[in-house]
Amino acid sequence: MNNRQNLMEDIDHILISKEEIEQAVKRIGEKINADYHGKEPVFICILKGASVFFTDLIRQVQLPIAIDFMAISSYGKSTKTSGVVRILKDLDHDIQGKDVIVVEDIVDSGLTLTYIKKTLTQRGASSIRIATLLDKPERRQTELSVDYKGFVIPNEFVVGYGLDYNELYRNLPEIGVLKPRIYNDIQ
Ligand code: 5GP
Repeated sequence: MNNRQNLMEDIDHILISKEEIEQAVKRIGEKINADYHGKEPVFICILKGASVFFTDLIRQVQLPIAIDFMAISSYGKSTKTSGVVRILKDLDHDIQGKDVIVVEDIVDSGLTLTYIKKTLTQRGASSIRIATLLDKPERRQTELSVDYKGFVIPNEFVVGYGLDYNELYRNLPEIGVLKPRIYNDIQ
């Protein structure tokens, strides 16, 4: 692996700033507060990509919530979906009869969340909604309703604010588009 002095050197341009992310997270949190008034939803974080969004989002919520985590297989080093979804880490708690909010970093083909939604339905969740920071609707391969979304973005591979390429860039506080040479170096 290259020694990178500065991760920002790999970023072609910033797509979404820290301030814009902050406002979107606040807006989604307020909407959830209103929609779930009187309820005790369970927030499920889809690891690892949604982790940064998740921790910011739950702090905007003023309801008695529970949290849980799930890890599923993703693209690995490639930037393209494989369509194969596998649970690497399952929930710790039973969600039967619970109102569930699944928190994801980005919806691309929609295959991952379609699978997760089906699994949680089979486990008897009483309602399931999806909150995603980013949405790439152009790439959708399934019918999937996204209930809360931060930004609709073009079909570009983005990193930062939890999203990685080859496990790097998750700690960038904004969302950026990677320089094409980065893919060419690694693939
Ligand atoms: P889907 O099943 O909707 O195609 O894939 C969703 C997952 O693909 C996301 O959770 C994320 O891990 C990955 N993904 C899709 N697009 C991007 C992208 O532009 N950047 C990064 N870093 N991951 C992406």
